[in-house]
Amino acid sequence: MLEELKREVCWANKQLPRLGLVSWTSGNVCGRDPESGLVVVKPSGVLFDEMQPQDMPVVDLDGNVVEGTYKVSVDAPTALYILKHLPQVHAVIHTHSPYASSFAALGRSIPVVLTEHGDAFGIPIPCGGYAKIGGTEVGQEAVRVLKQVNLQCPAVLMQNHGVFAVGVHPRGALKAAVVVEDVARTVHLATVKGDPIPIPPEEAQRLHDVYHSKYGQKPGGGFE
Ligand SMILES: [Zn+2]
Repeated sequence: MLEELKREVCWANKQLPRLGLVSWTSGNVCGRDPESGLVVVKPSGVLFDEMQPQDMPVVDLDGNVVEGTYKVSVDAPTALYILKHLPQVHAVIHTHSPYASSFAALGRSIPVVLTEHGDAFGIPIPCGGYAKIGGTEVGQEAVRVLKQVNLQCPAVLMQNHGVFAVGVHPRGALKAAVVVEDVARTVHLATVKGDPIPIPPEEAQRLHDVYHSKYGQKPGGGFE
């Protein structure tokens, strides 16, 4: 079942180590089929290189396994919580990408000091509070912050933890996760040299609006 979505989710998972967003088997991507509401998730502890589309477990929004023999990613409950409470979102990525996570370790959002950031999100990349792992707390905090910014920034840092990025498709969520890490790295380097110069909020918003209407083959800036 859901062969195409399994291929797409498997592909997106394999991009995580290639793009330097994860180490070993950490990090994951999942995607929801909008029609059935079923979700393709990452199998737990499987090496990205060895992952095959047919290995990807299919679960419902309550985490019941509908298809697959592999154990489901331990992060699946958080992703399912996010999908359940953000119906416009169909893909969730979680990483501990190092530069973005270093801001998370400080509990700091990332200010808009680069046009790349303004283009992509137009607002600071927000940082949520500390949330206990293992229950619904991480999902709750991620959803609270993503709703607060109306999903204009489709990614949130979680204090002392890492990054959650969302999209309509795994590819769009992946782009958000990549841009977050790219921006975090450059802002880090700038901060080592001095005080980065903020882009005024109205200019950051203008950059965002232009990018999302002009960049790419269709509106959305590639984050859909
Ligand atoms: Zn994590």
